[in-house]
Order: sequence, then structure tokens, then C-alpha cells
Amino acid sequence: MILDGKKIASQIQLEIAARIQKLKQRKPGLAFILIGDHAPSQSYVKAKQKACKEVGIESTRLELPSSVSQKELLSSISSLNKDTSIDGILVQMPLPSHLNEQTVTSSIDPSKDVDGFHPINVGKMLLGQDDGFLPCTPYGIQELLRRSHIQVEGKHVVIVGRSNIVGKPLAAILVQKKSHCNATVTLAHSASTQLSLLTRSADILIAAIGKPHFIKKEMVRPESVVIDVGINRLPDGKLVGDVNFEEVSKIASHITPVPGGVGPMTIAMLLQNTLTSYLRRHVKNDLL
Ligand code: NAP
Repeated sequence: MILDGKKIASQIQLEIAARIQKLKQRKPGLAFILIGDHAPSQSYVKAKQKACKEVGIESTRLELPSSVSQKELLSSISSLNKDTSIDGILVQMPLPSHLNEQTVTSSIDPSKDVDGFHPINVGKMLLGQDDGFLPCTPYGIQELLRRSHIQVEGKHVVIVGRSNIVGKPLAAILVQKKSHCNATVTLAHSASTQLSLLTRSADILIAAIGKPHFIKKEMVRPESVVIDVGINRLPDGKLVGDVNFEEVSKIASHITPVPGGVGPMTIAMLLQNTLTSYLRRHVKNDLL
């Protein structure tokens, strides 16, 4: 069965739009900072701004040249931190190499860090505290599983890829002693030995590697659930995931397509985090 992330994300967007329509005060505000002319970053921000518009979030985009100094960038972030019409700040990654990603991320007000990358929010996530923000891609994967009625509780989840934006936070989320978590998690990476043995032991296999068609049929246990986070562009321009969809879809019980799987869920959770941030600021004054 195909897990239609696009459809589920549309449903989430409808729910968010309905909630925003009822707000009595200003609309939620999300500020994007886009540095340089990195084409994929431009198209990601464009897609996110389009989604904001669809649900009624007011988004702004600050475009800075790739030569921007760290001091100038931090000063722009500081202004947005103080701006009371802004609930979320997203600095689109990757940054030019002269800018320090960790310093930039840490300069965002944690209460506006809707990407969930600030060390305070990473700490809250690890501690299982609910008053931070979960990073959008792992949060989207959890929500995709939840809304598809796929239980993770007690299941063996094998994640391949340990990046700070996908693999590590997803492991931290799914291992929590909470509902829609409580999984037994294995986090594999490039130094893992006998990877196929690990992946074949998964009830739920999550691929976040960044290598086209890396997960082959032989690496997947029949009737398991396969979530493909990868977004890879082939030389012919085709977009494919980290999983060989054609062969793995024949044996998996559920599988996400690329595109149309995890990608739309990531955007939906960015909108959700922005609304959450807004509500934390305003809920007392707003009749919802
Ligand atoms: P990343 O930072 O490059 O991390 C890749 C991970 O894969 C690393 O942990 C690496 O191991 C591991 N890996 C690489 N080769 C491996 C191998 N042969 N065996 C086992 N593990 C291996 O990538 P990322 O940022 O997490 O992104 C992963 C993919 O997801 C990319 O295609 C990206 O475009 C996509 N993505 C999609 C979304 C979405 O919304 N759908 C969001 C974010 C990312 P080491 O740590 O040992 O190097």
C-alpha cells in the first residue's frame, strides 16, 4: 500500500487553515531568510511560502547575498526575534561556507525556532518535553505513521542515516516513552556493519541516506513498512528516493513514494509548528 504523504499533508493543511480562519487577532507570521542563489534552496522556500499562503500564514522572505557577513545575518535574525508580528524564523540551509551554521541556528529565539534546530529545542526533544518544537521532517514522519494507523509502539524501527536534521532526531522522538513512540530504535550509518541484517530485522525501515535506490529488495523484510526520506535528482532530471521503489513496493506492506511521501509532510509540519508558536503567544487573548 502506498502511503500518500501528499494527501495526508493536504488534510493537515486544511485543518490548519480552518484553525487560522477562526483567529481573532493578526495571522501567524513566518519569516524566511534565504542566502545566496542556491537553486534548490530557492525552490524549497518558494514551495514553503506557497503552502503558507494556502493556509493563511503571512510569510516574508529576506534575501541576502552569499557575501553577507555573519554579523549582518545575526543582526537580521535579532530584528526578527524582536518583531512581534513574527512567530517563526527559518534560515534556509545550507549556508555559504563562511557562515557558522550552529552560531546562526543558536541565534534564533528558541520560541520562534519552527525548524526545531536550536540546541534548546533539541534538548527538549531528547528529554521528551512538549513545549519546544520538533524538527519538521522527523515530526512529519511520525505524523504520517500516526495518521496511517501504523503502530510504532513496541516495533523495531531501523533508521539508516544519522544526520542532525533527520536520523538522529527521528530516533530521539520514536524512542520516547509516549504514545505514537515507544519503539525499539536502531540507528544505522556508514560505519554500520552487516547493514542488510539490520534493515531486514526492521518492522519499520526508514531510509535517510541521500543515495538513489540504495535500499534494494534484498535489504527489506517482506510485509515491513518502508519510509523513504531521500530526495535525489538523477542525471536525467528525475527525482528519486533512497529506496528502489519499483522492487521494494512489491514486498513492503506500506511504502512512501518520492515525490509525494515525506516531502509534503515536512512542509505541513512547518505550518503546524508556526501555528503552535502563534498559539503559545496568543491563545489567552484569542477565542478559538
Ligand atoms: P546527510 O546529512 O548527508 O546524512 C546521510 C546519512 O546517511 C549519514 O548519516 C551517513 O552516514 C548515512 N550513509 C551514507 N552512506 C551510507 C551507507 N553506505 N550506509 C549506511 N549509511 C550511509 O543527509 P540528510 O540531510 O539526512 O538527508 C538524507 C536524504 O534525505 C537526502 O536525500 C535529503 O535530500 C533527504 N531529505 C529529505 C527531506 C524531506 O523533507 N523529504 C528532508 C531532509 C532531507 P555517516 O553519518 O556515517 O556519514
